Amino acid sequence: MVDNDPNVIYGGDFEEKLQFASLGELLIQHFTDGGEKPALINGATGETWSFREILTPSSKLARVLYGAGIRQNDVVSILAENRFEFTAISYGTILLNAILAPVNTTYTERELKHSLDISRPKFMFVSKVCENKISLLKKLSYIKRIILLDNNDTDENTKIIPYKKFINKFETTSFDVEKYASQKVNLSEQVALIFMSSGTTGLPKGCLLTHLNIFTCVAINLERVPLGKELFGNVVSLSIAPWFHSMGFMAILLSATTREFSMVYLDKFEPELYLQCIEKYKVVTIQVAPPLVVFLAKTPLLNKYDLSSLKVIFSGAAPLTQETEDQVKERFNNEIIVLQGYGQTEATLGVLYGSVSAGKPGSVGELAKGVYAKIVDEKGKSLGPNKVGELCVKGPLVMKGYLNNNAATKETIDKNSWLHTGDLGYYDEDFQFFIVDRLKELIKYKAFQVPPAELEALLLKNPKIKDVGVIGIPDEVAGELPFAFVVKQPGVELTEEEVKDFVVKNASDAKWLRGGVKFIDEIPKNPSGKILRRDLRDLYKNTKSKL
Ligand code: AMP
Repeated sequence: MVDNDPNVIYGGDFEEKLQFASLGELLIQHFTDGGEKPALINGATGETWSFREILTPSSKLARVLYGAGIRQNDVVSILAENRFEFTAISYGTILLNAILAPVNTTYTERELKHSLDISRPKFMFVSKVCENKISLLKKLSYIKRIILLDNNDTDENTKIIPYKKFINKFETTSFDVEKYASQKVNLSEQVALIFMSSGTTGLPKGCLLTHLNIFTCVAINLERVPLGKELFGNVVSLSIAPWFHSMGFMAILLSATTREFSMVYLDKFEPELYLQCIEKYKVVTIQVAPPLVVFLAKTPLLNKYDLSSLKVIFSGAAPLTQETEDQVKERFNNEIIVLQGYGQTEATLGVLYGSVSAGKPGSVGELAKGVYAKIVDEKGKSLGPNKVGELCVKGPLVMKGYLNNNAATKETIDKNSWLHTGDLGYYDEDFQFFIVDRLKELIKYKAFQVPPAELEALLLKNPKIKDVGVIGIPDEVAGELPFAFVVKQPGVELTEEEVKDFVVKNASDAKWLRGGVKFIDEIPKNPSGKILRRDLRDLYKNTKSKL
């Protein structure tokens, strides 16, 4: 019994323990075993890479990065859309026990600087879509090299170098990647990835994910996949989640390490292309955020394509309504299984997975192997079945902490190693979990994180704004839309449009105030100055009901 608490639930032990010296060794072994089977398919062009064809350039990249001076624990970053080079750069970095910190391609300069100032990468790979950020990157002294994926321009006097030239110049052929990866690392200490998340409060922070975190995710997935194979035969999956987010990145890493299925990827969502891919590649399962389930439930385009291969829709990253789940099932004549998963960046990926055999409508699933969970009330007391409280999880999926932010780490992971998720939910008598609300302030727009504290800090920079409070309001397609209550400075002229435009100019697309702006006299706060978001939500509801 964990913590002597009968209300703690455990997901069970793994049947097999993965025994590898490092994540690099695991990758080499799995890619080698996968051999010539198709692993990755660019859905837009049809280009296909086998497992071996991913391993070869990844090992080469490791030798190049080594030759260029990257060593254990150095940070390498990528600012690029989903594309093949992303995999080689990522795995090449991991093979060196260096740390990969991908960044959101939609970030504005302000957001990008905030994220990079946390991870402080030494090398930065940049694709065409983000070349407009190079002047900023050049100014950041911790970045020693900027490697351009699509541009052959070179300037010997700066730190910028084209990808091909970088590879030709720095490969150290004498560096034995396999031998290096076979040296034992401390799996629970060695960081492999940094992903940004604002967690329960405040600004985006860098989640440190270790080799053990990723081993655990791989082990969970390996035990789930045989079931999928048994049910559906050869599995082809389709993913459009961006690889700079843990859901997207872990999807490619897991498909690579599972060896059993091919992953079709796209770099952006285009409705026709998406449906064409399902038809053309006979996709069996898709991993999506709820807005895409809404799309499948409603689009008239569906009838144009033969989607009969599709058997499982796996939805995660944000709440899926029962209504949407029912609609999409009906649309596919109830010949489709809709499963949810629940997780967060701080727990590497999923801690709860819907099951084909035991799943219940609306449930986010049951505990993954190796994970402990409990539901606690406001006082931290653990609760039994069917009682709503905060979900807390513990185990080898929980991140090492936030990079250089002990205070935030301690607020999120308590002294008994419980990760407080900031989500409200319960489990029933069959240990199926349901998420009912969010305790934390985070807004999710189409599954993208929108930290209200960040938007508030930004809006306060506007000299016409005296005070501000941001909340998320419900939206059928996007899940939530950011909405701002604004207190104007005395005597100034300020319109809702001006406030919205200010955010459009200074924040990435997901953060735009699509929900609206309302001027009020005072932001409700508690005596210590904390914004009372629940009061703001009530205020929004009251305002709406009067309209
Ligand atoms: P992220 O770290 O960006 O993946 O965001 C994690 C947060 O997304 C969780 O803490 C939840 O608030 C939300 N979330 C993820 N999956 C689900 C789900 N299936 N149902 C409801 N909320 C979810």
